[in-house]
Amino acid sequence: MIIRESLSGAAHYTPRRGAVWLILSLDGQRYYVFHSQQGRQQLLMNHSANKMSMHTELQQKFYNNVTVLTSDGMTAELKKMSAIGAQTLEAWDMPDFEPWHAEEKLIENWKNCFHHFIRSTGQPPVVAEVFLSHCPCQTQNEIHSTAKTISGIYYPASCYEKLKIFCNTQTPDIKKWAIFYENQFHAQTLDIISGKLKITHRPPHIPLIKSLLG
Ligand SMILES: [Zn+2]
Repeated sequence: MIIRESLSGAAHYTPRRGAVWLILSLDGQRYYVFHSQQGRQQLLMNHSANKMSMHTELQQKFYNNVTVLTSDGMTAELKKMSAIGAQTLEAWDMPDFEPWHAEEKLIENWKNCFHHFIRSTGQPPVVAEVFLSHCPCQTQNEIHSTAKTISGIYYPASCYEKLKIFCNTQTPDIKKWAIFYENQFHAQTLDIISGKLKITHRPPHIPLIKSLLG
């Protein structure tokens, strides 16, 4: 978990290829960053896709410029290829592990964030805002988070269902939860209010995370 005192400071840490990012803002005073944790299968698929795109890039360079083999650019690309190869080998050796969505990581780490906020500001937070790279998954998505027990509470499948329970029953100090996402998830969106939880696509007047991400 990464903790920052400004949204721009938090956004600086968000990009990671293939991972969903989440920034939790408490009263606009502290920001906590989470990423989804990919399973072994997803990691291997990502590495294969990276290798394929590097291969195509190298082929194009080779056909367009035969002297490229001695250039620094080529050396850098070969280094990249070798790093991807090492990551793939590492993933093969890993025991299989369950993927965790960024929203599940937030639920798992909530107490740490909450207590950190009280320690650093002297009072409990009242408003929680969440900036998400993608819409929370739903049961109709082909890929959605599985049902699991997090911090002693049983949550059903999908992050949407988990968030409804978590925000409305596990965070009594928070009066309002607003969740803003940037992108659709598997062509699905959400625009709902459920108790004190609101989930919607980020409207233009809310700070533009994308511009911070570049
Ligand atoms: Zn999810």
